[in-house]
Amino acid sequence: MTQDTIGIIGAGIAGLSCANTLQQAGLNPIIFDKGRGLGGRLATRRAATGLQFDHGAQYATARSEEFEKVIAAATHSGQVARWDTGESPRYVGVPGMNGLAKFLAKGLEIHQNTQISAVRDTADGCDVTAGDQTWHFKTLAITVPAPQAITLLGEQHALSTKLSEVELLPCLTLMAAFSPQASIPFTARRDPDDALSWIALDSSKPQRSTQQCWVAHANPQWSAKHLEADPETIAQLMLPLLCERLGVDAATATHAVAHRWRYALVSKPLGSPFLRNADGTLYLGGDWCIDARIEAAWTSGNAIALDILQNR
Ligand SMILES: Cc1cc2nc3c(=O)[nH]c(=O)nc-3n(C[C@H](O)[C@H](O)[C@H](O)COP(=O)(O)OP(=O)(O)OC[C@H]3O[C@@H](n4cnc5c(N)ncnc54)[C@H](O)[C@@H]3O)c2cc1C
Repeated sequence: MTQDTIGIIGAGIAGLSCANTLQQAGLNPIIFDKGRGLGGRLATRRAATGLQFDHGAQYATARSEEFEKVIAAATHSGQVARWDTGESPRYVGVPGMNGLAKFLAKGLEIHQNTQISAVRDTADGCDVTAGDQTWHFKTLAITVPAPQAITLLGEQHALSTKLSEVELLPCLTLMAAFSPQASIPFTARRDPDDALSWIALDSSKPQRSTQQCWVAHANPQWSAKHLEADPETIAQLMLPLLCERLGVDAATATHAVAHRWRYALVSKPLGSPFLRNADGTLYLGGDWCIDARIEAAWTSGNAIALDILQNR
């Protein structure tokens, strides 16, 4: 299949931001994502018992005027709300973290459940392969984490050397619930030096479950140490740590499930908003270009779109 249009791999915030800006300029990009849902690391796990947990990104902050406008528009549409933790403004998707992704995705052509296995440069663009299907694009933006982009392009690709300089740290997450607790010690706590560097009462976010749901993230050192353990073992290791910090008995746990984020938080970013080949047929972007934040992903995707538009 030949597409005289723009292809985007990844429906995380970077890919959606890129597509949204292109769409506003009158173009119709096509997005591919291997996932069932939108948003990538903006993810919500729903359990059969009615519990729900944002197990990836916890909240967004807006430092730039441009991203403040996006947050304001998403808030106005009812897909983002302010989470009051007594800190400077923190915004969350509603009813789940990927509300912001859904806001950006409105009207876009997105092929979900489509895992791209390879990207090949051609004389006039790129070939993108998923299963037995291949698409040709004159312009392609890849917005997956840098190590996964190397897998798509191959280590010998001219841009892979730059990509390999980027480093992302892992994060192990615990989603837990307990029999109703008499007292709640805090709603959100960050302590980079603790094995559990982030603990939050996820259900204190707006429009969440009425049952108490906790999310804990292990710090990068602890996560790296236990990265290859199976999820059941990770949950068994993290649960007592969480119970100790909340002052609850592990026997009262009604739910304890772990998730492994292999590429969670960029520790060594690219240092510019995107990477591009000389003729502008291939772009690479994502939070890993700038910082481990939702806003950085949005900024990178938007910058790719603006560069594509400028060079058309
Ligand atoms: C545990 C955790 C906590 C975090 N907490 C915060 C926080 O509180 N605040 C904050 O601002 N940021 C936080 N972040 C960071 C934030 O989530 C990221 O900066 C942002 O979501 C990255 O967006 P992205 O679009 O660059 O990448 P991603 O969200 O990773 O999107 C990439 C997409 O590409 C898709 N993909 C990958 N490979 C393929 C393939 N071969 N074919 C098709 N599709 C593919 C994936 O399915 C995914 O949807 C956190 C991240 C994690 C993991």
